[in-house]
Amino acid sequence: VKSIAVLTSGGDSQGMNAAVRAVVRSALFNGLDVYGVQRGYQGLINDDLRPMDLRSVGDIIQRGGTILQTARCKEFLTPEGQQRGAEVLRSRGIDGLVVIGGDGSYQGANKLSKLGIKTMGLPGTIDNDIPFTDLTIGFDTAVSIVVDAINKLRDTMTSHERSSIVEVMGRHCGDIALFAGLASGAETILVPEVPYDLEQVANRMRENFQHGKRHSIIIVAEGAGNGEDVAREITALNGIEPRVTVLGHIQRGGAPTHNDRILASRLGDFAVRKLMDGDSGKGCGIVKGEFVATDIEKVVTTKKAFNMELYELASRLSQ
Ligand code: ATP
Repeated sequence: VKSIAVLTSGGDSQGMNAAVRAVVRSALFNGLDVYGVQRGYQGLINDDLRPMDLRSVGDIIQRGGTILQTARCKEFLTPEGQQRGAEVLRSRGIDGLVVIGGDGSYQGANKLSKLGIKTMGLPGTIDNDIPFTDLTIGFDTAVSIVVDAINKLRDTMTSHERSSIVEVMGRHCGDIALFAGLASGAETILVPEVPYDLEQVANRMRENFQHGKRHSIIIVAEGAGNGEDVAREITALNGIEPRVTVLGHIQRGGAPTHNDRILASRLGDFAVRKLMDGDSGKGCGIVKGEFVATDIEKVVTTKKAFNMELYELASRLSQ
């Protein structure tokens, strides 16, 4: 591999910039040429690439979003679009590509790999929904944003409202709700992976209040339900009127935490070294502190296991 490109795709996440910086600087350090693709697969199809130098990634490690911008590209779902993407890279003499994004972006990388482009995926998504990595880039920051928001809610709740419902991101994966819920002492955590019974939730709430609990927080992953609907049902069941806060896109913004910057830096460097070793069609991740590259095909066809142990711990500690 002599020349590589890097792109960010799908939803953005904090730390994508740190990952781009790491890929670019690691490639340059190793004597490779490196190109940045604007706006994900759309930019690839449109041949919107530019050479990156050391300074092109200066002053971005601390920024949220992605300087390469990101996009969702319908055309790339077609074999013609994928063929065109591979041709653009070949015509520029680029033989390796690092794709930073979520599940869909990995599927795209897998297609390019089958067309002979050496590809590496980096897990860039706040959802932590990619298997074969304990963490995705952006997850740590998203969780700390939710925890910070709940801290603020607690202050006002203890003096006024006594019950809050916080709806967080996570359509298929409840990790943001789980980790933020455990870290902020939420009374109830509703996630798409675990069926729940609102009657039990409402009864527990009532009992806890009767036993002197002064506030209660229910955290709902969007895939487990809508905050307003849950509030209405709780009120119907126990008469308590929780206030609902929907955090939305705030969870995807802001400066990445040091954990996300370090993870992104290490994964970016790891991906470049893998490409230099001639490896291809892999998703990179960290498992129990070790960096691993797993066949993308396997990554995109496996559902991430839910951490039941943490879920049960959170439940035991929130009495
Ligand atoms: P997030 O987790 O934040 O949603 P994502 O990477 O999963 O990120 P998607 O919109 O699913 O986001 O995918 C990003 C892009 O990847 C799509 O717009 C499309 O161009 C490409 N892509 C998705 N699925 C496929 C597929 N099956 N084959 C080829 N390309 C795909």
